[in-house]
Amino acid sequence: MVVLRWKMAEIHQARFAIIGGSSTNSIDFPGEAGYDGVEIIKRRAIFDTPYGKSPAFTLFSLKGKTVLTCRMHGWRAGVTRANASRQLFWVLREAGVERILGEGGVGAIDPKLELRDIVVPDDYIDLSMRRDVSLDSQYLLVMRDALCREERAALLEAARAHSVGRVIERGVYVVTDGRHFESPAEVRMLRSLGGDIIGQSLAPEVYLAREIGACYGSIQIIVNYAEGVVEEWSHEELASIFYGEAGMMSRILLEALDSLPAEKSCPCVSLRKPSLLKEKAD
Ligand SMILES: [Zn+2]
Repeated sequence: MVVLRWKMAEIHQARFAIIGGSSTNSIDFPGEAGYDGVEIIKRRAIFDTPYGKSPAFTLFSLKGKTVLTCRMHGWRAGVTRANASRQLFWVLREAGVERILGEGGVGAIDPKLELRDIVVPDDYIDLSMRRDVSLDSQYLLVMRDALCREERAALLEAARAHSVGRVIERGVYVVTDGRHFESPAEVRMLRSLGGDIIGQSLAPEVYLAREIGACYGSIQIIVNYAEGVVEEWSHEELASIFYGEAGMMSRILLEALDSLPAEKSCPCVSLRKPSLLKEKAD
């Protein structure tokens, strides 16, 4: 296998990024999505970052839009999840990315949800222990409208066109660390806090996107019920969704990306403010 290593200055400029999670993991995204207009420019591009070597990126174009994508799901040997996220967002910032779409498979806390429903979250609760993850920039990050309303609208429209399950317009995504699932008592607590779905990836991505001044939207497919909700989860069903729905999720992401307007009309960038705090000189 040939691994391309680009120096910092050679990172291709791209305004768009898709962060791959578990819902597209079983196919070679975006090539195997079967979406018209996708042209692969570079594959297996790994960059040196201040936080170690980045994950492998694919650079592609979609009808005039240049897009970086990589797989972030899973745990890379020898790399903390905090550093994996820093590596990713450092590259996206250097590339000049302004719009990011993320995806994944999540557990349902809300018993009204069904397997294969698609949720486009509009808010989150971060209960992970990775809160210090940043690129050390001096910004105050306002987390109102954390999930970009323009990207959410594009994801919803594409999901309605392609989803095999229902499309849920909003939901609160609870972020936990994993890799173990939650206990029934923890799930009851998360429901009482207002959570609808549980996963491990929305944070720190949502903070880091704001830190680099990019919009962030996310689409999630229900792959199991959280412990104590409706029925015990089945590994067979999980595998069937993992392998069976990756093409559909890929097409939703690409169609949403395709439909995003060139000019933004959302407030995301204005929600990143300069910090008023200064470091004290010795
Ligand atoms: Zn936005």
